[in-house]
Amino acid sequence: MGLHSAKIMLNLAGMENTKHPHHPKEERTLLLVKPDGVKRGLTGEIIRRIEMRGFKVIGMAMVWATRDQIEGHYDNSAAFLKTIGGKTKATYERYGLDVVSEMGTDDDEEIGRMVRAWLVDFMLSGPIVKIAIKGVHVIEGIRKLCGNTMPSQAEMGTIRGDFSTDSAACANRDRRTVRNLVHASGTHEEAQKELAYWFEPDELHDYKRAEEDIMY
Ligand code: ADP
Repeated sequence: MGLHSAKIMLNLAGMENTKHPHHPKEERTLLLVKPDGVKRGLTGEIIRRIEMRGFKVIGMAMVWATRDQIEGHYDNSAAFLKTIGGKTKATYERYGLDVVSEMGTDDDEEIGRMVRAWLVDFMLSGPIVKIAIKGVHVIEGIRKLCGNTMPSQAEMGTIRGDFSTDSAACANRDRRTVRNLVHASGTHEEAQKELAYWFEPDELHDYKRAEEDIMY
């Protein structure tokens, strides 16, 4: 993780441990509406889908992030870069495209580094909306709501599948990142770190939703 550890440690100290929550209902995650989602006026629709499922919004704000904030949010490790590079290659294979002629290399890490730079620039191109969410198996649940990283491959009914057709092949040809509307934490560890990174403890608010007694 490339998150600024000092800030995280500070915030984690004031937050509940979500890595091993006492109860599945206590699980928390982070979703960011990316600049394309905000500019397309989809913030409300995304929140509607989150709430409709029964997940609880416990913190929210619009921010125009600084480069440092975005650099700190996205991992810069070789492992992360290779994951992004690998997704590019898989997409190219799927559509019968030659990765070397498109990207100038077939090295996962090198491709990942290029894509990450485009991603950081994109995340600075407009405001984002940061949303903290709580609910039963919410990390997995929100990832499912978002759908596949590549909107062209995302299922209908997901945010990415319903509102975009973008793909790595299309985006990389234009030297830009995939515009896939949202970011969501992928694991317990990531969720805990990312919440602590984007929210101060006193920006998170717990309350009871009216249907909780009936749903659980
Ligand atoms: P996710 O956001 O689904 O967790 P990743 O963490 O792998 O996906 O990638 C982070 C972001 O980088 C993606 O949401 C997407 O915007 C962008 N991205 C990933 N892979 C590529 C790619 N091959 N080409 C262009 N953009 C990419």
